[in-house]
Amino acid sequence: MTAGQGPAGPEAGVHDEQRRAWVNRAVATIRADANRSADTHLLRLPLPEEWGVDVYLKDESTHPTGSLKHRLARSLFLHALVNGWIGPTTTVVEASSGSTAISEAYFAQLVGLPFVAVMSRTTSVEKISLIEGYGGRCHLVDDPAGVYEVSQRLARECGGHYMDQFTYAERATDWRGNNNIAESVLDQLRLERHPVPTWIVVGAGTGGTASTFGRYVRYQGLPTRLCVVDPEHSAFHPAWSSGDLGLTTDRGSRIEGIGRQRVEPSFLPGVVDHMITVPDAASVATMRHVDRLLARRPGPSTGTNLWGALQLVDRMRRAGETGSVVTLLCDDGHRYADTYYSDAWLAEHDLDPAPHVEEVARLFGA
Ligand SMILES: *Cc1c(COP(=O)(O)O)cnc(C)c1O
Repeated sequence: MTAGQGPAGPEAGVHDEQRRAWVNRAVATIRADANRSADTHLLRLPLPEEWGVDVYLKDESTHPTGSLKHRLARSLFLHALVNGWIGPTTTVVEASSGSTAISEAYFAQLVGLPFVAVMSRTTSVEKISLIEGYGGRCHLVDDPAGVYEVSQRLARECGGHYMDQFTYAERATDWRGNNNIAESVLDQLRLERHPVPTWIVVGAGTGGTASTFGRYVRYQGLPTRLCVVDPEHSAFHPAWSSGDLGLTTDRGSRIEGIGRQRVEPSFLPGVVDHMITVPDAASVATMRHVDRLLARRPGPSTGTNLWGALQLVDRMRRAGETGSVVTLLCDDGHRYADTYYSDAWLAEHDLDPAPHVEEVARLFGA
């Protein structure tokens, strides 16, 4: 247990009242911030009309902190506040591949708390400077598999709170609605020709987004199926296929934000209907195609999502089915200018999109 999670103890009283008043103000501040924010767009992909299959991209890059992690960070802060886990002087610590840390740094600054992000040394400089821009501190580690223990230790040493997105993502989000991402998407589809999607396609980092969609479509009694796309070297797909949830892999993911070396607690295999492993170079080729096609520059996990979504579209067309498929534009690609959008960086990391370019064009009906 971290100090922030401790019971009130014998010195409760005035101190406790002050803490409670601070928590109430912090919750109100975060709720007011949400109230000032707009919902994100559901973009329609320009595909040949005669296909009879429509593909939608929920554009999560337009949140104030540029990714779908904005929703998660807001939920994690509210959850930790109402649980009494964080108070007026708690240092918040998080293990992250970058995007969550950016969004959490934003919310920590909003309520006036110190924030420390524990991340792999390979995290892009753009992400690090965004975290520091919101007043956060970055603690870089060489072994990405070690971020959990380092975070726990740092939190313990400073009497802080380890937020632990990988455990709490699935339960901090309101799965029955409250304008969660699933409720928002289904509402935005209401006037479309295929308002109930055949497939929803998402990647998994924490697994929280997949859990929210999977639970919500069941709660609403919809026939919609959930496909999780996974990058190479991730434990999620082999674990889901084999049923061995203790399975781990010996290499980290090359697609930032998704794919883990272990099955995270927020990944709920029971809500997943199908999984596809997407070659990393195909994710990059698809990402770059979207960058040219839309007035939006996505990150690499959006490439993974769309490659998987378009495989399902291909399957539907061959089976003579019509319908809709929904996936996510997860984050803003400008934070990857020196990585996935740099040819030199791709070559260094043995990621060659060229062999996939023709197939990507075919999948988009070009
Ligand atoms: C976290 C993340 C995902 C996956 O979302 P989860 O809800 O954590 O599974 C996908 N893309 C990006 C860029 C992310 O940061």
